[in-house]
Amino acid sequence: MSHLDPDRMQFDTRLIHAAAPDPRIAGSVVTPIFQSAMGVQPPEGPASPQEALASLQYIRLHNTPNHLEIQGRLASLEGAEAALVCASGMAAISASLLSVVVPGDHLLVCDQLYGGSHALIHGELNRLGVSSTTVDGSDPGSWRAALRPETKAFYLETMTNPLLRLPDLPAAAAFSKEHGLVSLTDNTLASPVLCRPIEVGIDISLHSATKYLNGHSDILAGAVLGSEKWVGEIASRLTLLGGCLDPNACFLLTRGLKTLGVRMERQCTNAQALAEFLAGHPAVEHVNYPGLPGHPGSVQAREWLSGWGGLLSFELAGGESAARKLVQAVLIPAYAPSLGGTETLITMPVDSSHAILSPEERQAAGVGPGLVRVALGIEGQADLIEDFRQALEFCA
Ligand code: PLP
Repeated sequence: MSHLDPDRMQFDTRLIHAAAPDPRIAGSVVTPIFQSAMGVQPPEGPASPQEALASLQYIRLHNTPNHLEIQGRLASLEGAEAALVCASGMAAISASLLSVVVPGDHLLVCDQLYGGSHALIHGELNRLGVSSTTVDGSDPGSWRAALRPETKAFYLETMTNPLLRLPDLPAAAAFSKEHGLVSLTDNTLASPVLCRPIEVGIDISLHSATKYLNGHSDILAGAVLGSEKWVGEIASRLTLLGGCLDPNACFLLTRGLKTLGVRMERQCTNAQALAEFLAGHPAVEHVNYPGLPGHPGSVQAREWLSGWGGLLSFELAGGESAARKLVQAVLIPAYAPSLGGTETLITMPVDSSHAILSPEERQAAGVGPGLVRVALGIEGQADLIEDFRQALEFCA
């Protein structure tokens, strides 16, 4: 095979080789960092304005060799026509929503959104004259009643954080097509290993690449995946908003992404094992993890999700005070926000992902003051379970 054909490669091979520069740049096995703000243009002048634009190379235009490689690779992983990397997950989400709606439009949004997205939609977009109605993502029968003539888009999360609810993604894609809406899902928690929303019929897939895609908790990045048309529009808007990703961060993201398949596999098995251990412990009242029997929607979700991810949350019988003791007693997990890295993290969403919400909004989202969230890393499973076992002794 003289040329690698991404369409014929397995997922794990595409993680490493899809969209790699061909021929290799200066013979480099790994694409070097192009830490140059701009590239030269032909001084004799371009033949046309289109050629002038095409010859512009500038980091804010997302077109260094580092951008082109990571963007091509991400598109290949989710079967999208195109992809764009951004300075953060919120840059990806805000540039996308600002490209889809204009003042006067209305959005359908699934419940239990990530706190930043909730604040963007209900605060910033509302301030700009975009209204929204929250619907139960797992109850397609309830969506039609929320439609208005000015409804423009349906915004979802593939798996919600921290309760791991599983909106009916294929139904949302079909409903959006039927009613002429643009469908978007935040695919951060599933990653392309567990879900490829474009293949399910969703228009735009979004990521906080800070999480599983990079996987090492050392950069902030975001990604938008979809058709050439949508990604092109969002890229033009992001160019003006300035939320571009630096080439150094593109390089780190490309490096981190190579191990996504093996990391995710370990994170899923660690999460399943910890969820089962916690569910059987007398100090634990309730565990939210789709791999446990009875988790809402997980039977249907097998159709579009190939695993249950590396995140779980739980409540202790002793409530908030017991939860505070637990997060201080665990030895391996750091008490920190975020998720998707190699090291296990523990947090109480009231201090992190949902701190931006009012107590009433948190209550409505089902995020109680004693909820504990664990984002599993890739440490040894027995060590993690032993750590939680010893920590739970402080919580009686
Ligand atoms: N989406 C989800 C599900 C998240 O958990 C986060 C951050 O925690 C974001 C989006 C925002 O990503 P970033 O912090 O990279 O802007």
